[in-house]
Parts: sequence; structure tokens; C-alpha cells
Amino acid sequence: MHISDRKKSLNRTLSLVAVVLLLLTYLAIVSRVYAVNPMTFYILIAIGALVSYNVYQIFTKKFRERDQMIQTPFPEAWRAILEQYVEYYRALSDEQKRLFESEIQIFLHETRVTGIQCEVDDTTLVLAAASAEIPVFSFPEWEYDNLGEILIYPNAFSKDFRTEGEGRNVWGMVGTGLMEGVMILSQPALISGFKNDNDKQNVGIHEFAHLLDAADGEYDGVPRAFLHHQYIEPWLEAMHREIQRINTGESNMNPYAATAPVEFFAVATEYFFEHPEAMKQRKPELYELMCKIFNQDTGSRFRNALKSMVNYTGNKVGRNSDCPCGSGKKYKNCCLKNARQYAMEV
Ligand SMILES: [Zn+2]
Ligand SMILES: [Zn+2]
Repeated sequence: MHISDRKKSLNRTLSLVAVVLLLLTYLAIVSRVYAVNPMTFYILIAIGALVSYNVYQIFTKKFRERDQMIQTPFPEAWRAILEQYVEYYRALSDEQKRLFESEIQIFLHETRVTGIQCEVDDTTLVLAAASAEIPVFSFPEWEYDNLGEILIYPNAFSKDFRTEGEGRNVWGMVGTGLMEGVMILSQPALISGFKNDNDKQNVGIHEFAHLLDAADGEYDGVPRAFLHHQYIEPWLEAMHREIQRINTGESNMNPYAATAPVEFFAVATEYFFEHPEAMKQRKPELYELMCKIFNQDTGSRFRNALKSMVNYTGNKVGRNSDCPCGSGKKYKNCCLKNARQYAMEV
């Protein structure tokens, strides 16, 4: 979630404090000039004021742009896509729908979505953003801190991002190392995750769940940033019990959940958002814990506020890096041309 008055006022306060400190330091330095040449002193003061004003504008840019985004009408074509594909959206009240739409606009303004050897159409763009917003829709303080770019692959890919040859069975992944903060989604998998409402599978939500899990610094299937300390033990116990049920064939959960705790959390998140009633009925214990997770938000408010001041919008593939498609060309001369980012109407 991006829209939060609290975040906005924290940004303003911090920016103001930073600028005032800057100005005071500057004044202390130039005050000596007055005795020598008052005219020069006044010119220096004017320059100082101008620079401070600009620095303040830079520090508050992200939130001012968010305000503008909220004022920008949501594209009708995008609304139709949400109505058609996103069950979660259909269930929202009108007021919540408008909020969800603004969230999507801001997300797509701050996150680049790039087709690797493919075009990013509106459906792909809107569904990628919806996957991001659904799990965090009730957390006004949340920011996808490091995520700056989503790469869309035309099909399944291999663990080393190849789209041809053997071993292509990956539908989505969160990059590490050089690809840190970059998410990769296969286009057909992203779309089919939304097409079938009750299948408990949604690769977009799955990958964003991994980011929530990692918010505490570790991919371990325990989303500590969202889970009060007292629930960590119950979560681990519930997870191990359910993994056992999967292994003995007694569970209706996707067996992929049993491969590792980190996958268990991501699969449980898909289930929770795709088919909450079924989870409530069939796995009440797990459902209760998921409710706790997705209604808690301890956040990292201060760190996010500082990152917002420098207009940090997350890691992206470098313009001069090798293109992820493997063409050997620089990214800016290859697939980056397929990038889409939502521009503001000025
Ligand atoms: Zn996974
Ligand atoms: Zn390329």
C-alpha cells in the first residue's frame, strides 16, 4: 500500500527537519561574509534559500507524485480487466475499489514492467500490479522496498532464466544476486492464475508472498515482519502439521507447499487469497494464523521514509547490463524497449 496520511506527514516532517538543519549549517558558514561584504552575504542567503527549497521538493517528490496519481482518472480499460479477472477486486466495496485502483496506478508509476522478448499488454500490466496489491491491501504502511522492476517472460523459464532448452519449469521467481529486487513472472502463468478463481493457485500472489516473507531479511517461511512474536511457534507447528498431512495425502493443498517452509508460506498465501472460504472451512487453524499475518503490520516506517526522500523506487536491471533474454546485447538496446511504466497526466 502506498496511500497513507501518516507516511506522507512523516515524509514532510523529516524533509523539513533535514532542510532546516542544512540551512542552519549553511547560515553558520556564510554569516562571516556579512562583516566583509553585506551585498555578497544577501546573495548567498538568496542562493541558500533557493537550494533549500529545491532540496525540499526533491525529498517530498514521491509523495507529491502519489497525490497526483490519486487525482488521475483510472483507465476504463484497466477497470474492465480488474472486473473480468480479479475476484478479490470484485468483492470490494465501491470505495475500496477506488482505493485499490489508486494503489495500482501508484505501483505502476513506481515499478517498471518489462517484457523480455514479448510485449506487455494491459492485462499483464494490471494483473501484475493486482498480485502485488492484494496481499498488502490492508497494510497502509507497507512498501515493496527493494522491488523496482518486474520482468515478464513469454513462457516458462529455467532456473537460470533461459526461455529455451531443457529444464524450463519455473513460472515465477524473485531474483537474488545481480537480479536482487527484480521479480520474474511468466505471462501465461500470471494470467491463468487469475482466470480460475477457485483453484487456489496464483503465481503472481505466490511471488509477492515470498517478498513479504523476506521482509524480515530471511526467506524462511516465517513472515516475522507480519507475525507477532507469540504466533511464531503456533505458525511453525501448524505448518509442520500441514506438511505432514500433505506428505500422507490427507491435505487438499498444492503438494509443492511441502517442498520447503518458504514454499509453504507462499502456497498458503495463494490459497488464502484465492479461496478463503474453503481454507476457513477445511483448515481453520491455518486460516486463523493467516488472518493474523495479513492484518498485522509492524512495518519499517523510518527506513521507508528515508528511502522515499531520495525517491528510491527499488532495484531494477541496469541499463548497461546484459539483457536477461540472453541476446548478449545491452539491456537498454534490447528488451528494455518493451518496458512499460505508468506515466502521469500533466
Ligand atoms: Zn515459491
Ligand atoms: Zn533482450
